[in-house]
Amino acid sequence: YHGLRAKDKSFNATLKTDFEDKLKKINVIPQDLGRVVLNLLTNAFYAVNEKKQQNPTDYEPSVSISTKTVGKYLKITVKDNGNGMPQPVVDKIFQPFFTTKPTGKGTGLGLSMSYDIITKGHGGELKVETEQNEGTEFIISLPI
Ligand code: ADP
Ligand code: MG
Repeated sequence: YHGLRAKDKSFNATLKTDFEDKLKKINVIPQDLGRVVLNLLTNAFYAVNEKKQQNPTDYEPSVSISTKTVGKYLKITVKDNGNGMPQPVVDKIFQPFFTTKPTGKGTGLGLSMSYDIITKGHGGELKVETEQNEGTEFIISLPI
């Protein structure tokens, strides 16, 4: 997918996938949902890349994407084992232009745009769970 090009240094990261085999019908704007998933994956790979540079030897970067039906919702989860976020950062991530990345590496628009696409555009929810030093999980819930 464009946007996931290897830039400066490349490294091996596992991308695990776990898709429910019984597909549910959901109404989506495919291009918008694709953009959200790409945003979440890009952030996840950025996070594991950062941690890999801090721990070149004893850390195995891992990103996973999975889908699961929970009640009347389809949940799409993007999870990484990066550094996670402290609460003051979590509080701001959905605000437009909030970024902790160096100039040129982030616009701070990915998550605010993703939030709008999922909530306003699809009547769904976008939630985050994170633990410092352990990793982060973004959960998209879409009505079936
Ligand atoms: P950008 O990626 O341009 O910084 P985003 O809106 O995509 O903007 O993300 C905002 C901020 O949220 C990031 O700068 C980072 O601090 C934090 N963030 C998002 N995803 C993750 C993640 N998977 N792990 C750690 N921090 C994250
Ligand atoms: Mg981003």
